[in-house]
Order: sequence, then C-alpha cells, then structure tokens
Amino acid sequence: MDIIVQKYGGTSVGSAERIKAVAKRIVKDRKKFAGLVVVVSAMGKTTDELISLAGQVSENPSPREYDALISNGENISASLLAMAIHSLGENVISLTGAQAGIKTENIYSKAKITNVDTTRIDKELRDGKIVVVTGFQGINDYYDVTTIGRGGSDTSAVVLAAALNARECEIYTDVDGVYTTDPRDCSEARKLDEISYEEMLELASLGAKVLHPRSVECAKENKLTMHVRSSFKNDDGTRVKEINKMETKKAVTGIAKSDNEVMISILNVPDDPGIAGAVFEELAKENINIDMIVQSTERGGVNNITFTVNGEDRDKAEEVTRKAADKIGVEGVECKDSIAKVSIVGVGMISRPGIAARFFRVLGQNGINIKLITTSEIKISCAINKEEADIAVGILHKEFELETN
Ligand code: ASP
Ligand code: MG
Repeated sequence: MDIIVQKYGGTSVGSAERIKAVAKRIVKDRKKFAGLVVVVSAMGKTTDELISLAGQVSENPSPREYDALISNGENISASLLAMAIHSLGENVISLTGAQAGIKTENIYSKAKITNVDTTRIDKELRDGKIVVVTGFQGINDYYDVTTIGRGGSDTSAVVLAAALNARECEIYTDVDGVYTTDPRDCSEARKLDEISYEEMLELASLGAKVLHPRSVECAKENKLTMHVRSSFKNDDGTRVKEINKMETKKAVTGIAKSDNEVMISILNVPDDPGIAGAVFEELAKENINIDMIVQSTERGGVNNITFTVNGEDRDKAEEVTRKAADKIGVEGVECKDSIAKVSIVGVGMISRPGIAARFFRVLGQNGINIKLITTSEIKISCAINKEEADIAVGILHKEFELETN
C-alpha cells in the first residue's frame, strides 16, 4: 500500500482553528494516497503546562506518573483532530501510542522506541480510515505509558513511517523548511530543497532546532526521506534524504551559529599523562557538556587546555574546573564570556581542499579573530567574539555562495 506519514507539530495544531485547518488539509491529501497516517504533537505549550503542574504538586514526581501526565497533550490533539476530520465527512480513527502498538524501553521520560506492532494500524488503513496517532508516547512491557523525550513526536512519526514502509515522512511545522542559515540572522538565507542526513544532524545539534536529532538518525538508518514543510502553505519544503556526496555542487550547505558559549582555559598545565582525563572526568560527573576542546603543544613541560561550554553551565563548569585544577597544580583558570561558535557544514567539503583556508581567510580579512578551531569530516567550527557572530555568518554566507542554488 502506498502510505504517507504526516506529523503536525504543536503550533500547527495550536488552536481549534488550526486543528480545523489541518483537518481540511488532511482530507484533501487523503485522495492522493492509499494510506494516510497522521502523527500529532500536543497543542501549543500544553506539555510545558503539564510539566509545570507536576512541579506544583510534587518536588519529585514519580517517573511513571510524570509520563502518564505529560503524555496527555498528544491524546487531546489526536482526539480533537479526529473529530475535526470526521465532521468533514471522512472516515478516521485516533489511536494512542499503546493502541498503535508503539513499544518502548522500560524507562521513563526518555525511553527509546524498541518496536512497532502495526497490526492495528494496518487493519484501520485497510478499512479505509485515516489513522491519527499520538506522538511522543509509547508503552512499556508493563503496559505503562512512557514518553520518548522532549520534541520526540518527530521521532514517533519517523519510526512509524519506517515500520509501515511509507513512501515519505512529512514533518509539518511553522517554518517553510531548512534554511542555509537562520533567516533571522541573515536576510540572504535561502530555503534548501534538500539536505543530507549527515548535514541535518550537524545543523540540528548545532542549534538549528527544526527537527529532533534522533528522528534524523532514525530516518538515516531506514533510508527514509523526511520532508520538512509548513502547515500554513502548500509549497514544498526541504527533503532530508540520502545524497551522493560526490554529486554535491557546493562545498558548504549551511551555516550554524550558537552564541551562548563560554570559553574556559586552564593555564600552564603539567604535561603529564592522565591530566586531561582528570579534569574532564570531574566535569562529566556534574553532567556538564563540553563542546570544543583544544590543547596546545607542550612548552617547558606545560601546556594550556581550553574548552567551551554552554552559557547555562558557566558557573558550575568554572567551579568544577577550578577545583580540579587546584588538585593538579596549574597557573590559573580563565573564563571568557560572550563567545559564539560559527560552523560551516557540508558533505561537499570532503572532496574539495582549501575550504578551511577560505573560512579563516575571509574572517581574517574582516578583522574577526578566531579563538578556537575544531573540525570534523563535514564541519568546520570557529569560536569568535559573540558581537561578531552575525557579521561572520553574513560574510561566510556570501563567501560560499549560499544565496544562490
Ligand atoms: N509535546 C512534546 C513536547 O513538547 C513532544 C513534541 O512536541 O514533539 O516535547
Ligand atoms: Mg518539534
């Protein structure tokens, strides 16, 4: 059966009006596909509100009850959407994660989906019904409701699409698609027609918050195309899919910026084995995520270690680093606030030398000082002063000709 899975995010179903609009769209699409499965998120800020309520009645809610509570937002949108579709005269049924056969691990709040038993969905599709499924939730071995992590409805949709062998998974949201960079930072930003899974993962974890990263990983594993598009328009959006790296026309596909970083340097660290391990172990114990890490070469028996953390972790990270550094015996610890990380991402850079040189040269020509550099196969990142981040994004966008196709 030719099946399509569509996912509608929180803003797309944010009000009764929006739900009615989405229902109309679904009824129109119904005719195009033999089978239509629709995954929904909670309306607007419902999940946040439920989380806040939990906090008001208990300091330490039981994980089981917590998931039972916060999964309800999706139940509400699924029933409402099914009612709206029904009132347009279409055959439809809404199913909870449990009814749809979505099985998860036996943990709460961030359970992974382990398996989908599609028997019920298959039957409803064969009966000619549109099937609406709640995103974000599943059921564990004990028939208890679990949730799969904030923003997880994207992943629910992809997992269902893979299990149903769907042609494509459409992700309807409030933006037109994935852009070369954030259009709010750069007026030249252009919507991409397509992007590879690898690039999308880099951009997603770099702060382009369009898709839940796990959904992209899951689509990649299953070679399933995701189509990110606006629920307010009819235009095509961006297809996240497998792209032949040799065929890419451009070296760089997109630019990401994260501008709430702090740079911490440990100065004159003894150049002995195990020192870096000792420092970063302490940071890991406090659950502090380290981003870029650079260690200088040894001179006179010492070196410097510099790394960046998210601004939210600043105070904790500084405290832990100072404590660890005191034990080792170093010259000092320095913190620099207001750091941004600007990254260029593209599978095309694998086959083209000189991309890093262009990146550094053009920043230099514009008087922007680079503080740290890190690279991966398809990404080059630089830490710079936060005030210069938007200018840097604009310059790089031009340098790598991202405004044109
Ligand atoms: N409603 C859930 C959340 O707010 C899941 C989702 O929207 O994808 O995190
Ligand atoms: Mg989302």
